[in-house]
Amino acid sequence: MKKHNFYAGPSIMSQYTIKNTADAILDFAGTGLSILEVSHRSKEFQAVIDEATALMKELLGVPEGYHVLWLGGGASTQFAMVPFNMLEKKAAYLKTGKWAANAIKEAKLFGEVDVVASSEDTNYNYIPKDYTIPTDADYFHYTSNNTIFGTEIRKDLDSPVPMVCDMSSDIFSRPVDVSKYALIYGGAQKNIAPAGVTFVIVKEDALGHVSRAIPTMLNYQTHIKKGSMFNTPPVLPIYSALMTLRYYKELGGVEALEKIDLEKAAVLYDEIDRNRLFTGTVAEEDRSIMNVCFVMKPDYAELEKDFIEFATSKGIVGIKGHRDVGGFRASLYNALPLDSVKVLVDAMKEFEAKH
Ligand SMILES: *Cc1c(COP(=O)(O)O)cnc(C)c1O
Repeated sequence: MKKHNFYAGPSIMSQYTIKNTADAILDFAGTGLSILEVSHRSKEFQAVIDEATALMKELLGVPEGYHVLWLGGGASTQFAMVPFNMLEKKAAYLKTGKWAANAIKEAKLFGEVDVVASSEDTNYNYIPKDYTIPTDADYFHYTSNNTIFGTEIRKDLDSPVPMVCDMSSDIFSRPVDVSKYALIYGGAQKNIAPAGVTFVIVKEDALGHVSRAIPTMLNYQTHIKKGSMFNTPPVLPIYSALMTLRYYKELGGVEALEKIDLEKAAVLYDEIDRNRLFTGTVAEEDRSIMNVCFVMKPDYAELEKDFIEFATSKGIVGIKGHRDVGGFRASLYNALPLDSVKVLVDAMKEFEAKH
Protein backbone atom coordinates (compact mmCIF):
# COMPACT_ATOMS: atom_id res chain seq x y z
CA MET A 1 0.00 0.00 0.00
CA LYS A 2 1.23 3.50 -0.77
CA LYS A 3 2.22 5.28 2.43
CA HIS A 4 1.51 8.92 3.20
CA ASN A 5 4.19 10.14 5.58
CA PHE A 6 3.15 12.88 8.02
CA TYR A 7 5.93 12.34 10.59
CA ALA A 8 7.20 15.51 12.30
CA GLY A 9 10.89 14.64 12.15
CA PRO A 10 12.76 12.82 10.88
CA SER A 11 10.26 13.16 8.13
CA ILE A 12 9.42 12.64 4.51
CA MET A 13 12.16 13.28 1.97
CA SER A 14 11.82 13.62 -1.78
CA GLN A 15 12.28 10.49 -3.85
CA TYR A 16 14.96 12.47 -5.70
CA THR A 17 16.96 12.80 -2.48
CA ILE A 18 16.41 9.21 -1.39
CA LYS A 19 17.23 7.62 -4.74
CA ASN A 20 20.33 9.71 -5.34
CA THR A 21 21.54 9.04 -1.80
CA ALA A 22 21.00 5.32 -2.34
CA ASP A 23 23.00 5.50 -5.59
CA ALA A 24 25.87 7.31 -3.84
CA ILE A 25 25.90 4.66 -1.12
CA LEU A 26 26.66 2.15 -3.87
CA ASP A 27 28.94 4.29 -6.04
CA PHE A 28 29.80 7.86 -5.13
CA ALA A 29 30.58 10.24 -8.00
CA GLY A 30 32.11 7.49 -10.12
CA THR A 31 34.80 6.80 -7.53
CA GLY A 32 33.94 3.10 -7.33
CA LEU A 33 33.57 3.68 -3.58
CA SER A 34 30.56 4.24 -1.37
CA ILE A 35 29.96 7.72 0.04
CA LEU A 36 30.07 5.86 3.38
CA GLU A 37 33.75 5.05 2.95
CA VAL A 38 35.38 8.08 1.35
CA SER A 39 37.49 10.66 3.13
CA HIS A 40 35.77 13.93 3.87
CA ARG A 41 39.02 15.47 2.57
CA SER A 42 38.64 13.83 -0.86
CA LYS A 43 38.16 16.23 -3.75
CA GLU A 44 34.84 14.54 -4.53
CA PHE A 45 33.40 15.28 -1.09
CA GLN A 46 34.87 18.77 -1.05
CA ALA A 47 32.85 19.40 -4.21
CA VAL A 48 29.70 18.18 -2.42
CA ILE A 49 30.02 20.46 0.59
CA ASP A 50 31.03 23.41 -1.62
CA GLU A 51 27.98 23.00 -3.85
CA ALA A 52 25.63 22.48 -0.88
CA THR A 53 26.94 25.67 0.71
CA ALA A 54 26.66 27.60 -2.54
CA LEU A 55 23.07 26.40 -3.06
CA MET A 56 22.06 27.37 0.50
CA LYS A 57 23.41 30.84 -0.23
CA GLU A 58 21.75 31.05 -3.63
CA LEU A 59 18.33 29.69 -2.66
CA LEU A 60 18.04 31.68 0.57
CA GLY A 61 19.67 34.82 -0.81
CA VAL A 62 22.40 34.84 1.84
CA PRO A 63 24.21 38.20 1.61
CA GLU A 64 27.95 38.93 1.74
CA GLY A 65 29.42 38.78 5.21
CA TYR A 66 27.56 35.58 6.18
CA HIS A 67 28.82 32.01 6.41
CA VAL A 68 26.92 28.75 5.97
CA LEU A 69 28.06 25.96 8.29
CA TRP A 70 27.25 22.25 8.37
CA LEU A 71 27.64 20.93 11.92
CA GLY A 72 26.76 17.95 14.09
CA GLY A 73 24.86 18.02 17.36
CA GLY A 74 21.40 18.96 16.15
CA ALA A 75 19.49 22.18 16.74
CA SER A 76 19.63 21.33 20.45
CA THR A 77 23.40 21.95 20.52
CA GLN A 78 22.74 25.36 18.95
CA PHE A 79 20.60 26.20 22.00
CA ALA A 80 23.90 26.29 23.94
CA MET A 81 26.28 27.32 21.16
CA VAL A 82 24.38 30.55 20.44
CA PRO A 83 24.71 31.93 23.99
CA PHE A 84 28.23 30.51 24.37
CA ASN A 85 29.31 32.63 21.40
CA MET A 86 26.98 35.62 21.68
CA LEU A 87 25.68 36.18 25.21
CA GLU A 88 27.92 38.51 27.20
CA LYS A 89 25.43 39.89 29.73
CA LYS A 90 21.81 39.50 28.70
CA ALA A 91 19.74 37.98 25.92
CA ALA A 92 16.04 38.31 25.03
CA TYR A 93 13.95 35.24 24.16
CA LEU A 94 10.41 34.79 22.87
CA LYS A 95 8.91 31.71 24.53
CA THR A 96 6.51 30.13 22.04
CA GLY A 97 6.96 26.43 22.67
CA LYS A 98 8.99 23.55 23.96
CA TRP A 99 12.00 24.18 21.70
CA ALA A 100 12.06 27.85 22.69
CA ALA A 101 11.88 26.78 26.33
CA ASN A 102 14.82 24.41 25.81
CA ALA A 103 16.80 27.24 24.21
CA ILE A 104 16.01 29.52 27.18
CA LYS A 105 17.17 26.88 29.64
CA GLU A 106 20.57 26.67 27.95
CA ALA A 107 20.96 30.44 27.62
CA LYS A 108 20.49 30.82 31.39
CA LEU A 109 23.76 28.92 31.86
CA PHE A 110 25.59 31.86 30.27
CA GLY A 111 23.91 35.02 31.51
CA GLU A 112 20.71 36.87 32.18
CA VAL A 113 17.71 35.88 30.07
CA ASP A 114 14.81 38.25 29.51
CA VAL A 115 11.77 36.26 28.35
CA VAL A 116 9.99 39.09 26.53
CA ALA A 117 6.71 37.17 26.17
CA SER A 118 5.39 33.65 26.59
CA SER A 119 2.29 31.72 25.56
CA GLU A 120 3.03 28.90 27.98
CA ASP A 121 -0.07 29.69 30.10
CA THR A 122 -2.33 28.50 27.25
CA ASN A 123 -0.14 25.55 26.23
CA TYR A 124 1.52 27.65 23.51
CA ASN A 125 -1.58 27.86 21.33
CA TYR A 126 -0.79 31.33 19.96
CA ILE A 127 2.16 33.62 19.20
CA PRO A 128 2.51 36.57 21.60
CA LYS A 129 2.72 39.83 19.66
CA ASP A 130 2.75 42.49 22.32
CA TYR A 131 6.25 42.76 23.74
CA THR A 132 9.30 44.98 23.78
CA ILE A 133 12.79 43.75 23.06
CA PRO A 134 15.26 45.44 25.43
CA THR A 135 17.79 47.50 23.50
CA ASP A 136 20.57 46.47 25.88
CA ALA A 137 20.22 42.75 25.06
CA ASP A 138 23.08 41.08 23.20
CA TYR A 139 20.57 39.39 20.90
CA PHE A 140 16.92 38.42 20.52
CA HIS A 141 16.08 34.75 19.91
CA TYR A 142 12.88 33.21 18.60
CA THR A 143 11.58 30.00 17.03
CA SER A 144 9.90 30.67 13.68
CA ASN A 145 7.87 27.46 13.62
CA ASN A 146 6.74 25.61 16.73
CA THR A 147 6.84 22.06 15.48
CA ILE A 148 5.07 20.57 18.49
CA PHE A 149 2.27 23.09 18.91
CA GLY A 150 1.62 24.05 15.28
CA THR A 151 2.11 27.81 15.43
CA GLU A 152 4.35 29.77 13.12
CA ILE A 153 5.74 33.27 12.67
CA ARG A 154 5.54 33.52 8.90
CA LYS A 155 7.47 36.74 8.55
CA ASP A 156 10.85 38.09 9.55
CA LEU A 157 10.47 39.95 12.84
CA ASP A 158 12.11 43.28 13.57
CA SER A 159 14.52 43.70 16.42
CA PRO A 160 16.63 46.57 17.75
CA VAL A 161 19.35 44.04 18.64
CA PRO A 162 20.92 41.20 16.59
CA MET A 163 18.30 38.58 15.82
CA VAL A 164 18.74 34.80 16.11
CA CYS A 165 16.18 32.31 14.85
CA ASP A 166 15.62 28.56 15.12
CA MET A 167 14.16 27.73 11.69
CA SER A 168 14.47 23.95 12.04
CA SER A 169 11.00 23.13 10.84
CA ASP A 170 10.09 25.89 8.38
CA ILE A 171 13.31 26.65 6.52
CA PHE A 172 12.60 26.63 2.75
CA SER A 173 8.86 27.16 3.24
CA ARG A 174 9.03 30.88 2.52
CA PRO A 175 11.51 33.53 1.39
CA VAL A 176 13.59 34.83 4.31
CA ASP A 177 15.36 38.17 4.50
CA VAL A 178 18.62 36.77 5.88
CA SER A 179 20.08 40.27 6.25
CA LYS A 180 17.71 40.84 9.20
CA TYR A 181 19.36 38.05 11.20
CA ALA A 182 22.68 37.64 12.96
CA LEU A 183 22.25 33.88 12.98
CA ILE A 184 19.78 31.29 11.67
CA TYR A 185 20.05 27.60 12.56
CA GLY A 186 18.15 24.38 12.33
CA GLY A 187 18.31 20.61 12.42
CA ALA A 188 18.18 19.48 8.80
CA GLN A 189 15.90 16.51 9.45
CA LYS A 190 12.63 18.34 8.76
CA ASN A 191 13.02 19.98 5.39
CA ILE A 192 16.50 19.21 4.08
CA ALA A 193 18.21 15.93 4.93
CA PRO A 194 18.26 12.84 7.12
CA ALA A 195 19.06 13.43 10.79
CA GLY A 196 22.68 14.16 11.65
CA VAL A 197 23.47 17.55 10.20
CA THR A 198 22.62 21.03 11.45
CA PHE A 199 22.77 24.12 9.27
CA VAL A 200 23.93 27.47 10.61
CA ILE A 201 23.88 30.75 8.71
CA VAL A 202 25.91 33.26 10.68
CA LYS A 203 26.92 36.85 10.14
CA GLU A 204 30.64 37.17 10.62
CA ASP A 205 30.50 40.43 12.57
CA ALA A 206 27.96 39.04 15.07
CA LEU A 207 30.81 36.95 16.50
CA GLY A 208 33.83 37.74 18.64
CA HIS A 209 32.07 39.98 21.17
CA VAL A 210 32.07 37.76 24.25
CA SER A 211 34.90 37.67 26.78
CA ARG A 212 34.67 34.01 27.83
CA ALA A 213 36.82 31.22 26.44
CA ILE A 214 34.88 29.03 24.02
CA PRO A 215 35.76 25.35 23.53
CA THR A 216 37.12 24.80 20.03
CA MET A 217 34.26 22.63 18.76
CA LEU A 218 31.61 25.00 20.13
CA ASN A 219 33.19 28.09 18.62
CA TYR A 220 31.55 29.16 15.35
CA GLN A 221 34.82 30.78 14.29
CA THR A 222 36.54 27.38 14.26
CA HIS A 223 34.02 26.08 11.74
CA ILE A 224 34.09 29.26 9.67
CA LYS A 225 37.89 29.09 9.41
CA LYS A 226 37.86 25.41 8.50
CA GLY A 227 34.88 25.44 6.14
CA SER A 228 32.90 23.05 8.40
CA MET A 229 35.83 20.60 8.16
CA PHE A 230 37.62 21.17 11.45
CA ASN A 231 36.60 17.63 12.30
CA THR A 232 34.74 15.00 10.30
CA PRO A 233 31.41 16.49 9.25
CA PRO A 234 28.27 14.35 8.81
CA VAL A 235 29.21 13.30 5.30
CA LEU A 236 26.13 11.31 4.31
CA PRO A 237 23.47 13.81 5.50
CA ILE A 238 25.40 16.61 3.78
CA TYR A 239 25.30 14.62 0.56
CA SER A 240 21.53 14.18 0.94
CA ALA A 241 21.18 17.88 1.73
CA LEU A 242 22.88 18.67 -1.57
CA MET A 243 20.40 16.44 -3.40
CA THR A 244 17.45 18.20 -1.73
CA LEU A 245 18.87 21.62 -2.53
CA ARG A 246 19.36 20.69 -6.18
CA TYR A 247 15.78 19.47 -6.22
CA TYR A 248 14.52 22.70 -4.62
CA LYS A 249 16.36 24.72 -7.24
CA GLU A 250 14.85 22.61 -10.00
CA LEU A 251 11.35 23.20 -8.56
CA GLY A 252 11.87 26.96 -8.69
CA GLY A 253 13.32 27.84 -5.30
CA VAL A 254 11.64 29.07 -2.13
CA GLU A 255 8.92 31.11 -3.84
CA ALA A 256 7.72 28.01 -5.68
CA LEU A 257 7.98 25.88 -2.54
CA GLU A 258 5.98 28.40 -0.53
CA LYS A 259 3.20 28.38 -3.10
CA ILE A 260 2.81 24.60 -2.88
CA ASP A 261 3.12 24.64 0.92
CA LEU A 262 0.39 27.29 1.26
CA GLU A 263 -1.92 25.27 -0.95
CA LYS A 264 -1.37 22.04 0.97
CA ALA A 265 -1.99 23.75 4.31
CA ALA A 266 -5.14 25.47 3.02
CA VAL A 267 -6.61 22.16 1.85
CA LEU A 268 -6.13 20.58 5.29
CA TYR A 269 -7.18 23.58 7.41
CA ASP A 270 -10.31 24.02 5.26
CA GLU A 271 -11.31 20.46 6.03
CA ILE A 272 -10.55 20.81 9.76
CA ASP A 273 -12.79 23.89 9.86
CA ARG A 274 -15.55 22.26 7.82
CA ASN A 275 -15.61 18.82 9.41
CA ARG A 276 -18.11 18.25 12.26
CA LEU A 277 -15.71 15.98 14.18
CA PHE A 278 -12.45 17.94 14.23
CA THR A 279 -11.16 21.28 15.42
CA GLY A 280 -7.82 23.08 15.21
CA THR A 281 -5.83 23.70 18.39
CA VAL A 282 -4.22 27.10 17.74
CA ALA A 283 -5.19 30.70 17.03
CA GLU A 284 -6.15 30.94 13.36
CA GLU A 285 -3.79 33.78 12.49
CA ASP A 286 -0.83 31.85 13.90
CA ARG A 287 -1.45 28.53 12.18
CA SER A 288 1.67 26.77 10.93
CA ILE A 289 1.75 25.68 7.30
CA MET A 290 4.31 22.98 8.20
CA ASN A 291 2.79 21.27 11.27
CA VAL A 292 -1.00 21.18 11.42
CA CYS A 293 -2.33 20.32 14.89
CA PHE A 294 -5.95 19.31 15.42
CA VAL A 295 -8.08 17.29 17.81
CA MET A 296 -11.51 15.69 17.99
CA LYS A 297 -14.20 18.08 19.14
CA PRO A 298 -15.12 17.35 22.80
CA ASP A 299 -18.31 15.46 21.82
CA TYR A 300 -16.24 13.03 19.76
CA ALA A 301 -13.14 12.81 21.94
CA GLU A 302 -13.48 9.06 22.37
CA LEU A 303 -13.07 8.57 18.60
CA GLU A 304 -9.44 9.67 18.60
CA LYS A 305 -7.93 6.19 18.62
CA ASP A 306 -10.43 4.99 16.03
CA PHE A 307 -9.47 7.76 13.66
CA ILE A 308 -5.76 6.96 13.96
CA GLU A 309 -6.58 3.31 13.16
CA PHE A 310 -8.84 4.33 10.27
CA ALA A 311 -6.16 6.64 8.87
CA THR A 312 -3.56 3.89 9.24
CA SER A 313 -5.76 1.60 7.14
CA LYS A 314 -5.50 4.21 4.35
CA GLY A 315 -1.69 4.22 4.45
CA ILE A 316 -1.51 7.41 6.53
CA VAL A 317 1.53 7.37 8.83
CA GLY A 318 2.70 9.64 11.63
CA ILE A 319 -0.38 11.75 12.43
CA LYS A 320 -0.48 11.05 16.16
CA GLY A 321 -0.10 14.39 17.96
CA HIS A 322 2.80 15.15 20.29
CA ARG A 323 2.06 14.08 23.87
CA ASP A 324 2.02 17.76 24.96
CA VAL A 325 -0.93 18.52 22.68
CA GLY A 326 -2.65 15.19 22.04
CA GLY A 327 -4.92 14.59 19.08
CA PHE A 328 -3.29 14.76 15.70
CA ARG A 329 -0.42 16.49 14.00
CA ALA A 330 0.04 16.35 10.24
CA SER A 331 3.44 17.60 9.16
CA LEU A 332 3.31 18.96 5.62
CA TYR A 333 6.99 19.40 4.85
CA ASN A 334 8.13 20.29 1.34
CA ALA A 335 8.57 16.70 0.20
CA LEU A 336 4.98 15.76 1.06
CA PRO A 337 2.85 15.70 -2.10
CA LEU A 338 -0.53 17.46 -2.24
CA ASP A 339 -2.03 14.05 -3.04
CA SER A 340 -1.11 12.80 0.45
CA VAL A 341 -2.95 15.75 2.00
CA LYS A 342 -5.96 14.87 -0.16
CA VAL A 343 -5.85 11.27 1.07
CA LEU A 344 -5.92 12.55 4.67
CA VAL A 345 -8.79 14.94 3.90
CA ASP A 346 -10.75 12.15 2.22
CA ALA A 347 -10.18 9.93 5.27
CA MET A 348 -11.52 12.72 7.52
CA LYS A 349 -14.62 13.05 5.31
CA GLU A 350 -15.23 9.33 5.21
CA PHE A 351 -14.77 9.08 8.97
CA GLU A 352 -17.26 11.92 9.49
CA ALA A 353 -19.85 10.15 7.34
CA LYS A 354 -19.48 7.02 9.49
CA HIS A 355 -20.07 8.84 12.78
C1 LIG B 1 13.14 19.32 15.87
C2 LIG B 1 13.41 20.68 16.40
C3 LIG B 1 14.49 20.96 17.25
C4 LIG B 1 15.42 19.87 17.75
O1 LIG B 1 16.27 19.49 16.77
P1 LIG B 1 17.42 18.40 17.07
O2 LIG B 1 18.17 18.43 15.79
O3 LIG B 1 16.72 17.10 17.35
O4 LIG B 1 18.20 18.86 18.23
C5 LIG B 1 14.70 22.25 17.64
N1 LIG B 1 13.87 23.25 17.25
C6 LIG B 1 12.82 23.01 16.46
C7 LIG B 1 11.94 24.14 16.06
C8 LIG B 1 12.55 21.73 16.01
O5 LIG B 1 11.50 21.49 15.21
